[in-house]
Amino acid sequence: MTLLDTLNRPLRDLRISVTDRCNFRCVYCMPKEVFGPDYQFLARDRVLTFEEIARLARIFAGLGVRKIRLTGGEPLVRKDLPTLIAMLSQIPDLDLTMTTNGALLSKFAEHLKATGLKRVTVSLDSLDDKIFKAMNDADFPVKKILEGMDAAKSAGLEPIKVNMVVKRGLNEQSILPMARFFRGKGYILRFIEYMDVGRSNGWRMDDVVPAKEIVGIVNAEMPLEPASPNYRGEVAERWRYKDGSGEIGVIASVTQPFCSGCNRARLSAEGKLYTCLFAIKGHDLRELLRGGATDEDIAQKIESVWGKRADRYSDIRSQNTLPLPKVEMSHIGG
Ligand code: SAM
Ligand code: SF4
Ligand code: SF4
Repeated sequence: MTLLDTLNRPLRDLRISVTDRCNFRCVYCMPKEVFGPDYQFLARDRVLTFEEIARLARIFAGLGVRKIRLTGGEPLVRKDLPTLIAMLSQIPDLDLTMTTNGALLSKFAEHLKATGLKRVTVSLDSLDDKIFKAMNDADFPVKKILEGMDAAKSAGLEPIKVNMVVKRGLNEQSILPMARFFRGKGYILRFIEYMDVGRSNGWRMDDVVPAKEIVGIVNAEMPLEPASPNYRGEVAERWRYKDGSGEIGVIASVTQPFCSGCNRARLSAEGKLYTCLFAIKGHDLRELLRGGATDEDIAQKIESVWGKRADRYSDIRSQNTLPLPKVEMSHIGG
């Protein structure tokens, strides 16, 4: 089954945010000034249950989704997450993966693998404790994340990707140390351009370090050559070390947008379907789930939303799109 949107893009990839909560306060995602002690997170009864998530996942798979990524907020702060993994891993022909900040990975890696998770992506913005702590704003040390990655590797949750958001003036000096550290170890380091997601991170174009510049910095010390995409719609541009010691990726959502191949939908923790990371409005699927709709009713709703989809925010990003009331990244997941 292939659903196509108005720009002929198939629905293949679903990102499910299992919680809007997080144990970090990354300055580019959940700044403390906005997500402080008084911030109202979703009440428990508004968050989809595991049964509801699994039901939707099956319906999406029936509509052509081949990959599901669990995200958040921080997925591992959701209680009993391996129980959800066990339910999702029953869906045939599905690539099941997760993006995590890694803080709780040492504790959960074995259990996640045993219940059917295939791979993980771990976010890490620097190997320097001072810089990393300034970015996660939760006083969390680098060592714990590296321990989490080791645990994921030992458990076989591979290949492990490492996401590093690069923000000008904050962690550019960490680009080379990160590349040196992960090279030759089987990890795929991906540099992500700082994006204008949500409304709370105070994004400015000047804070973006363009992917070209990042590749230039790495290439000057460790020569790179371009590698072709693994599949249609891959967001990271791949670069291989010329000496065969591995690869890196750059996600250039700001300077080289990739909307034309975008096959991703997002499901928020409260069951809203979003067809773009920069969406303003979601489509309520929880209402249908809890209102007695059949699987066919829900599938029809998804088909109708995807059929009307025309999103291409990154292609048309400008000063005019900045003030739009976009949903927060911690709400719909990265
Ligand atoms: N908490 C998990 C984590 O940090 O990996 C999963 C959710 S997080 C929203 C998903 C990814 O989005 C992370 O790799 C994070 O670094 C990235 N991200 C968050 N805010 C971003 C921004 N403003 N620009 C670029 N990437 C961002
Ligand atoms: Fe939490 Fe991930 Fe956002 Fe950082 S990027 S605040 S770890 S959700
Ligand atoms: Fe997809 Fe929206 Fe990102 Fe474009 S801006 S690649 S449509 S999520």
